[in-house]
Amino acid sequence: MQFDSHVRTLLAAACALVDGLTPGHDGTTPYDVPRGPAAVAAARAALVSQGRASRVTAAQAAELAGWAERVRAVFAAGDAGRVDEAARLVNALLDDTSARPRLDRFDDGWSLHFHGPDDGVVLGWMAGIASALALVVGSAWAGRLGVCDADPCDRVFLDETRNGTRRYCSPRCQSRVKAAAHRARAAT
Ligand SMILES: [Zn+2]
Repeated sequence: MQFDSHVRTLLAAACALVDGLTPGHDGTTPYDVPRGPAAVAAARAALVSQGRASRVTAAQAAELAGWAERVRAVFAAGDAGRVDEAARLVNALLDDTSARPRLDRFDDGWSLHFHGPDDGVVLGWMAGIASALALVVGSAWAGRLGVCDADPCDRVFLDETRNGTRRYCSPRCQSRVKAAAHRARAAT
C-alpha cells in the first residue's frame, strides 16, 4: 500500500513527535522530555509540512508532549501485534481530536486532507496524525508501526521495507546490535 504525500508527512511527524517529546532511550543514551525552549525546538522540528516548521509556543509544546505519549502507545501496541488495542487507542485519538476529512484544493487538484475542529497547531496536527495512524492500523500496514529492538532504545519508526523486516530505529542501532552479536560470537 502506498500512502499519499499528506499521509506520509503526518506519519513522519508522528514518529518525530514521539521521539522528540517522550522520555526513554535514544540508542543507549537516556532521553528526557525537553523543557521550555528545547521542547519548542523539538516540536517545531517534528511538525514540518512542505519544508516549513510550524509555529509552536511553550504551552503548545507541553500540550503536544501529552499527545505524543498517546501516539507512542499506538506504536507500542502495533509493534507488539496488539492490533485491537492499537485500534482502540486510535479511535480515542480520532474522537478527542475531532478529526474530520476534507477535500482541499491544491495546484495539482483536489486532495483528501484531515483537519481538527480548528486549524490551531495542536489539534490541527494531532487530528491529522490520528487520521494517518487510522489509515495504517486499518490496513495491511498495522504491523508496520515499530519500536526499536536495540535494547534499551525505544525510538519509533514506520517500517516501509518491502517485506516488513525493519527492526531498528536507525542504522546506528542496527550496527550496535550487529557489533554486539559479533563480539558475543567471538567470545565463545
Ligand atoms: Zn534505536
